Amino acid sequence: MYLKSLEVHGFKSFANKLLFEFHNGITAIVGPNGSGKSNVADAVRWVLGEQSAKQLRGAKMEDIIFAGTELRKPLGYAYVAITISNEDHKLNVPYEEVTIARRVYRSGESEYLLNGASCRLRDIQELLFDTGIGKEGYSIIGQGQIDKILSGKPEERRELFDEAAGIVKFKKRKAAAEKNLAEEQQNMIRIEDILSELE
Ligand code: ATP
Repeated sequence: MYLKSLEVHGFKSFANKLLFEFHNGITAIVGPNGSGKSNVADAVRWVLGEQSAKQLRGAKMEDIIFAGTELRKPLGYAYVAITISNEDHKLNVPYEEVTIARRVYRSGESEYLLNGASCRLRDIQELLFDTGIGKEGYSIIGQGQIDKILSGKPEERRELFDEAAGIVKFKKRKAAAEKNLAEEQQNMIRIEDILSELE
């Protein structure tokens, strides 16, 4: 499994539609200050479901849409798509390639797409659990993040190891099952109350 390509259109400084193609091995993105290197990493973070404008170095989510320059009008939407090679089927879907896309309009309307079909953010999160790729994964190590991990709370460090060990999906399912169980127990108590009133 590896990142095959990244398409951006209207995302931050990328006004034109742009396709980055990656290959197995190391790719470095170099350029002068302010040329948009970090915006490439921000695009990957965003398409994987980042909800915090701060994490994307903006004040509000609209800041990720191309804001225009002296020579060019602002755009009305931002679109990012990443294509992941899934030849080893580490992602649990029957496709050799998986394309995850996200689009947002200035109106705030937004959508996620999985291989072209509209889907929920949750579908993407579930697909990426335990791969290290998700928004909380360790596939994007930002500036200062190593320090943060080392000096962070033990529980936060534990989350990283859980993801690497591939047990996040089980923990999430366990939490969901426990929630259902608690709700059912409440229902049982109510039914018992009603029954005792009728007796
Ligand atoms: P450095 O090497 O200094 O860290 P960088 O190459 O990583 O820089 P970025 O931080 O990725 O550069 O890009 C910053 C540029 O992106 C700035 O010129 C900024 O004006 C531009 N930019 C950010 N958001 C938008 C937006 N919504 N619309 C247009 N341009 C934007």
